[in-house]
Amino acid sequence: MDLALGTKAPAKPLAFIDLQAQRARLSDRVERAIQRVLDHGRFIMGPEVAELESRLAAFCGAKHAISCSSGTDALSLVLMGKGVKPGDAVLVPTFTFAATAEVVALLGATPIFVDVLPNSFNLDPVSLEQGLRTAKGLDLRPVGVIAVDLFGLPADYDAIAEICRANDLWLLDDAAQSFGAAYKGRPIGTIGDATATSFFPAKPLGCYGDGGAVMTDDDALAARIKSLRVHGKGRDKYDNVEIGLNGRLDTLQAAILIEKLEIFEDEIAARNRVAHRYAERLGDIVQVPQVPADMTSVWAQYTLVLPEGRRDAVAEALKAEGIPTAVYYPLPLHRQTAYASYPVAGNGAPVSDQLSQSVLSLPMHPYLEEADQARIVGALRQLLAS
Ligand SMILES: *Cc1c(COP(=O)(O)O)cnc(C)c1O
Repeated sequence: MDLALGTKAPAKPLAFIDLQAQRARLSDRVERAIQRVLDHGRFIMGPEVAELESRLAAFCGAKHAISCSSGTDALSLVLMGKGVKPGDAVLVPTFTFAATAEVVALLGATPIFVDVLPNSFNLDPVSLEQGLRTAKGLDLRPVGVIAVDLFGLPADYDAIAEICRANDLWLLDDAAQSFGAAYKGRPIGTIGDATATSFFPAKPLGCYGDGGAVMTDDDALAARIKSLRVHGKGRDKYDNVEIGLNGRLDTLQAAILIEKLEIFEDEIAARNRVAHRYAERLGDIVQVPQVPADMTSVWAQYTLVLPEGRRDAVAEALKAEGIPTAVYYPLPLHRQTAYASYPVAGNGAPVSDQLSQSVLSLPMHPYLEEADQARIVGALRQLLAS
């Protein structure tokens, strides 16, 4: 084959999430904020930590926002605050990041894996009810539900909260991907007993390292979590009233997040414009995400469901064109080595199994230019038509 013919210069590879574009926009504001922390030197629980917490609480309308070391620790702190222990069952979706179930297992309790809905990718209330029966059949005590707002879209909280009320279960929102979204006019951060979010760099609101926060309106739970995040401290950290964590957020990360929170609303609007363009230009040939009229998403991911058997070849072909994609998640948790021994609701999680074979996430960030998006859409349309 004549390589000079039919080969075009490879196009510049696109970013899956372009953090450098955000950095350019924030310009020296973040550097100045870091400099201020270096100058005052209060690296642990410095003034920026309390400042960020009050801004996070105001942003979502929660009574308390408690920053911590990661989204995973935010989940752990709530579970510890609720006294989760061996013999307890906590219901979690199987189509999620491992942290959602990991925190349950770490406390010696049993995660019960629940299936998700094929369109929202979020907890299926029918499977949740089945999971409760599965837990009771195993002589476990169901104590709570962790609902995940996957890819930035809130779960179906009216249905889930109703099941929680009827069964005396607490409800924790794993909002690692959805902080900034809303469910029926209620901001994420105000739903259920508590909300956990993550500031991992690639999340919609990310810092430059690990970080997280818990939001709650429950005064007693908030007080307990503040103690648990500093080794279960009483009067001070040398007075230990229970077993806790070293779970604080660094002052430097708080200072960075204060600057990023300033532009977060605007970035959410930009993410929605990107999502809207994808839907308009791809919705006729592939299953694109649908946002119910009474919810908003912050588009942590823009995730398609491809026709059976086509996903991996499409991802490969896009990669060859310089278009990165990602698979969240290639295996549901109940099929992971570490979690395979935990119970699954009813007879399994067929929707999660099917999704793990067919989902594909496209580049999504607030700074995705129209021309680059047109390139992604063009390549995908051509591949799906062939
Ligand atoms: C990212 C993520 C977490 C964990 O957050 P970290 O800050 O990385 O610990 C938990 N749950 C979900 C759904 C996530 O996407």
